Amino acid sequence: MASASTFCPNQTLNSPGNCFLYQWKKTRSSRTEVVGSSYQAFDVVIIGAGIIGLTIARQFLIGSNLSVAVVDKAVPCSGATGAGQGYLWMVHKTPGSETWELAMRSHTLWEMLAESVRDQGLNPLAELGWRKTGSLLVSRTHAESDILKKRVTQLSEAGLEAEYLSRDDLRKEEPALSVGGDSGAAFVPSDSQLDAQRTVAFIEKANRQFSSKGRYAEFYHDPVKCIVRSGSSGEVGAVQTFMNTLHSRKAVIFATGCWTGSLMHDLVRSSEIELDVPVRPRKGHLLVLENFNSLKLNHGLMEAGYVNHQTATLRPSISELEPSDEGRNLSVSMTATMDAAGNLVLGSSREFAGFNTEVDDSIIKHIWQRAGEFFPKLSELPLSDISNCKKVRIGLRPYMPDGKPVIGAVPGLSNLFLAAGHEGGGLSMALGTAEMVVDMVLGQPRKVDNAPFAVQGRCC
Ligand SMILES: Cc1cc2nc3c(=O)[nH]c(=O)nc-3n(C[C@H](O)[C@H](O)[C@H](O)COP(=O)(O)OP(=O)(O)OC[C@H]3O[C@@H](n4cnc5c(N)ncnc54)[C@H](O)[C@@H]3O)c2cc1C
Repeated sequence: MASASTFCPNQTLNSPGNCFLYQWKKTRSSRTEVVGSSYQAFDVVIIGAGIIGLTIARQFLIGSNLSVAVVDKAVPCSGATGAGQGYLWMVHKTPGSETWELAMRSHTLWEMLAESVRDQGLNPLAELGWRKTGSLLVSRTHAESDILKKRVTQLSEAGLEAEYLSRDDLRKEEPALSVGGDSGAAFVPSDSQLDAQRTVAFIEKANRQFSSKGRYAEFYHDPVKCIVRSGSSGEVGAVQTFMNTLHSRKAVIFATGCWTGSLMHDLVRSSEIELDVPVRPRKGHLLVLENFNSLKLNHGLMEAGYVNHQTATLRPSISELEPSDEGRNLSVSMTATMDAAGNLVLGSSREFAGFNTEVDDSIIKHIWQRAGEFFPKLSELPLSDISNCKKVRIGLRPYMPDGKPVIGAVPGLSNLFLAAGHEGGGLSMALGTAEMVVDMVLGQPRKVDNAPFAVQGRCC
């Protein structure tokens, strides 16, 4: 009986004949029968058009001659990426931690991308929402300040320009901030931020330039419903979506954010593959104040407690929240940035609420109150007074219980790769992740050790 790969040996991209009704006969090893589906072939099929999927596509396009398809059940920015605050900071990352090298490499690659935009005669602010504001991790207690002083030493030893700002220096840098007796800040002047929507649009546009060469195609509003294994190797030969069957010659990559756990569970359910990807959604609210002139920031800010907030289940002043919130492990930690359009963006909450993306007004109130503790001007303003300029952004961060993304091949399915679970750092770690995935697929030497991110031992 023929194996899937022998059905269309001369398939070429974008040729009129490559889209046809096709019957895929069941082989001994393939578990799914694909009948009556539009069929196209690519070297690499990427599922998920968030920042991770799109930057992986970009890296294949600029770093190899492979053809790439990107599939999404909706559109780019419909997942966590569209909600992201946009900071690419190192100030809250810990030298020597398992994600440090990946974060540093990504930091360098983002800088290079912004530079290449400049080299093309374009403005990184306009194209990417790129702003090198520097970042401040702000302490308010003596104990926090001591921790930040040590952090500054660590960051400096790791090669980053970092300094500890005393209360008086902090006041000069950020006059709108309430600075008490024990306040201080870790300052990383080279930290930058971007606008996720602008950056995604820029990357998509650049990727699409490869369409005319037959190397790139997008399949949006087309959810993946199964994977098709082919041949005796058990490799994934194709991905079946609701509208298409996308054959993959080299690799299938799942960059499906917080959906990766449930999706992979469904896809391998009836196979012998044992895979349990523990990625789950961690909901976050952001409050955006458009054309808000009452407060101006010179830098991006984050409260020192954010470092724990990202990984742990720190509780806020729970009395202000509904009793049922306790089960959600709700936490709110102050982050404040000005985006490329001059809007004030205040964050952020974390909670486990399944795939629910509805606005919770009590959380918005809590974000506002928390910001008011840092910025006295905000505490003077009732939330109801700013309803005309108030927007709320909600996203589901892809949470991994051990705090690291999962990046690598699935054992037993050698051409199936996962790249998910970046939680609150997917924008900042995207370019390093993309480089790592492409190097793995192409068998190239890695710039960053991928062992901490392996699928084996964490998902199977
Ligand atoms: C409030 C908030 C603030 C944040 N701020 C920052 C920040 O400042 N800096 C930072 O680095 N990170 C930040 N993050 C985290 C960052 O946004 C995420 O880590 C990142 O966007 C994850 O990207 P992704 O591509 O993995 O996932 P997503 O953007 O969620 O993309 C996954 C895609 O997979 C698609 N998909 C799912 N299932 C299927 C299917 N069956 N078929 C086809 N497609 C499918 C979805 O439609 C989606 O488009 C923030 C997140 C939130 C929520």
